[in-house]
Amino acid sequence: MSVHFQVLIIGGGTAGIMVAAQLKRKQANISIGIIEPSKDHWYQPAWTLVGAGTFDYAKTRRDESSLIPPGVEWIQDKATEISPDQNSVATAGSGIYTYDYLVVCPGLVMDIEALPGLKEAMETDIVCSNYTDPDKTWRVLQSFKGGNAVFTQPVTPIKCGGAPQKIMYLADDYFRKNNVRDKTNVIFATPGTVLFGTKEFADTLHKVIERKQAILKLFYAPVKIDAQKRIIYYQYKKDQPWQAEQATGETMGDDGLVAMPYDMLHLAPPQAAPAFIQSSPLCAKEGANKGWIEVDHYTLQHRVYGNVYALGDVAALPTAKTGAAIRKQAPVVVDQLLAAINHHPGTKQYDGYSSCPLVTGYGKMLLAEFKYGNVRDSDPLLSKFMDTTKEHYRMWLLKKYGLPWLYWNKMMKGKM
Ligand SMILES: Cc1cc2nc3c(=O)[nH]c(=O)nc-3n(C[C@H](O)[C@H](O)[C@H](O)COP(=O)(O)OP(=O)(O)OC[C@H]3O[C@@H](n4cnc5c(N)ncnc54)[C@H](O)[C@@H]3O)c2cc1C
Repeated sequence: MSVHFQVLIIGGGTAGIMVAAQLKRKQANISIGIIEPSKDHWYQPAWTLVGAGTFDYAKTRRDESSLIPPGVEWIQDKATEISPDQNSVATAGSGIYTYDYLVVCPGLVMDIEALPGLKEAMETDIVCSNYTDPDKTWRVLQSFKGGNAVFTQPVTPIKCGGAPQKIMYLADDYFRKNNVRDKTNVIFATPGTVLFGTKEFADTLHKVIERKQAILKLFYAPVKIDAQKRIIYYQYKKDQPWQAEQATGETMGDDGLVAMPYDMLHLAPPQAAPAFIQSSPLCAKEGANKGWIEVDHYTLQHRVYGNVYALGDVAALPTAKTGAAIRKQAPVVVDQLLAAINHHPGTKQYDGYSSCPLVTGYGKMLLAEFKYGNVRDSDPLLSKFMDTTKEHYRMWLLKKYGLPWLYWNKMMKGKM
């Protein structure tokens, strides 16, 4: 086993494998090591469908060993400390590795403790999250008999910002099919000031909410959960007086918090960069990006350490954290690495592209594609055949069959 690599990658998830595979394809003689502790690799985008009982959880997992590109060394260990001044990374079990270039992409972690009461609530059988256990979401939906079905998300950045509302749309559909919907308030409560960042897609989503008669609560920032009483408490963040919604039974307490009773609760837990990133010299120490890795938005190069790049969920980029974003980030990092190794200027830039396949029911989806500034960035070829701001059955097929196939057979092989 080598201890020095030209390119050392931390994290063998979506980003790490894509970068390694593309780099090896472009220049086979580069020595690459991937530090990745897990023997499992997950295709997380399908977890939304797993939670709605329309995708097999087992099929979202593959052996990590089957994805490590030929010629790349897999260090099955956990990175514990990054020392960018020494160009080295310490691991939990196998010592220290050094590098010429470092690519940091260990994703993010669920920060369950950041929302008081969440841990206890997650232990009950009416609280679930596609982010942690999508099979449980499916069990919760099946056993739900009516009342308040609350879907919510935290104030922290999260991966796939659309996922908390996708499962709400699917749940509504499921409740209708099973005659539970007429006894149910479907509530989507978000700290966000808008339902979706890009107006063209938000317009369609508002119509979906209206059609489904779901209750939309903007400016609702979750602050704690009382698992015993089955209440989630929100800080109402809008600069206007709060108005009670009769149907939901929510009330404003003396503490100024809105108490929302729930009969089932789905949430995206608060999320954060892994602890070893937060304690490293690479992360932002202050400001809105505190704890995340600040890189140049266009080259993905670290702002202080020029031989370090970060991409994927751990990077502080003003766009949505998705696998789709990584598909556009990875070629930029690869281009930058090849340019640096071969002493020529880089040619590619990342424009903030991300996309969100917004499933709005069984058999319905709209594909939101956008870039920095929440500017719509729909694929021109696809747009020739359909209006991607609208729901389509063909898009659902893309989500359920097309994208998983592309992920395993093309993206993970460095072919796109
Ligand atoms: C419910 C849900 C729905 C989603 N839907 C979509 C969607 O529809 N479309 C879409 O594009 N994206 C979607 N995503 C988001 C997408 O899956 C992530 O953005 C993407 O996987 C992030 O890739 P990453 O490589 O940054 O992190 P990950 O793929 O999470 O990989 C990080 C890797 O780093 C490893 N690691 C962690 N700590 C260490 C350490 N200390 N040392 C070494 N390795 C470490 C981990 O084991 C892991 O393998 C969804 C995610 C979820 C949870």
